[in-house]
Amino acid sequence: MARIGFVGLGNMGGPMAANLVRAGHDVRGADLSAPALEAARAAGVTASDAPADGAEIVVTMLPAGRQVLDAYPALLAAASPGTLFIDCSTIDVAEARAAHGLAAQAGMASLDAPVSGGTGGAQAATLTFMAGGDAKAFAQAEPLLTQMGRRVVYCGEAGSGQAAKICNNMIAGVSMIAVAEGFVLAEKLGLSHQALFDVASTSSGQCWSLTSYCPVPGPVPASPANRDYAPGFAAALMLKDLKLAEAAAAASGADTALGRHAASLYAAFAETGAALDFSAIITAIRDRSA
Ligand code: NAD
Repeated sequence: MARIGFVGLGNMGGPMAANLVRAGHDVRGADLSAPALEAARAAGVTASDAPADGAEIVVTMLPAGRQVLDAYPALLAAASPGTLFIDCSTIDVAEARAAHGLAAQAGMASLDAPVSGGTGGAQAATLTFMAGGDAKAFAQAEPLLTQMGRRVVYCGEAGSGQAAKICNNMIAGVSMIAVAEGFVLAEKLGLSHQALFDVASTSSGQCWSLTSYCPVPGPVPASPANRDYAPGFAAALMLKDLKLAEAAAAASGADTALGRHAASLYAAFAETGAALDFSAIITAIRDRSA
């Protein structure tokens, strides 16, 4: 059992902290939102204004890099030297490296460990973690991450977890648009959704956006298209990750033309569909094809 400080008890952090309580840890949590704090308390988290005080491990699960970099100085100042800081938020690679720098200056170990798997994965403890930082910090974190997820991948030096996350999500965003365009073209050509699915899911068009998040109702009963595109993975979050990928591409000189274009299509879609699942982008493609 470890004493864990957990900052950010929202849609993801709340159930992740609850899984740590279930695993037997003493979890002290903080959140700016009273309802989030109350839900975490009901799951066995102890509400605390000083979650890093006395903690062996501090986990942050905050909306974006700004909140992480704002929260770190006070958390680092309150923690004992050698405490392990794990940031699970999805943030910019440069911001993640800055957070590692703050932790190192304060004499703390640190990891960036963003997740994939959504709120369902957070609740069921089936998340995938992708971790960046030094190998010793990873070895210390791995048993804890395993209690919140099913798969934990060590990606390399500081910032590598965030790099893996945004590369993966750029692939998912681009491939969802490609799959959606395929279905809209099929509709125009008089080809049924099921026929396209049966062919593409066993041919070279096969991908996760098709087989897990199929953007039309029917072929994949669990996909958000079957429940009016309730997320799943909201278009607003996909847009956030595509923008992070675009910023990283600009900073590193990678030419990600389709990633850039996907970001602009999701930006337009998010004006009305931000809260829908990202597969709902098919409705915008269909509208433009009318
Ligand atoms: P959320 O908005 O539900 O939760 C964030 C929580 O942080 C909120 O409860 C908010 O009150 C709290 N918060 C903000 N600033 C704070 C501060 N300074 N101190 C304490 N609490 C603070 O967001 P979420 O869906 O839980 O996502 C968290 C992170 O996980 C994001 O970076 C997101 O991109 C990433 N993520 C989300 C999903 C998903 O499906 N929701 C999937 C993968 C990754």
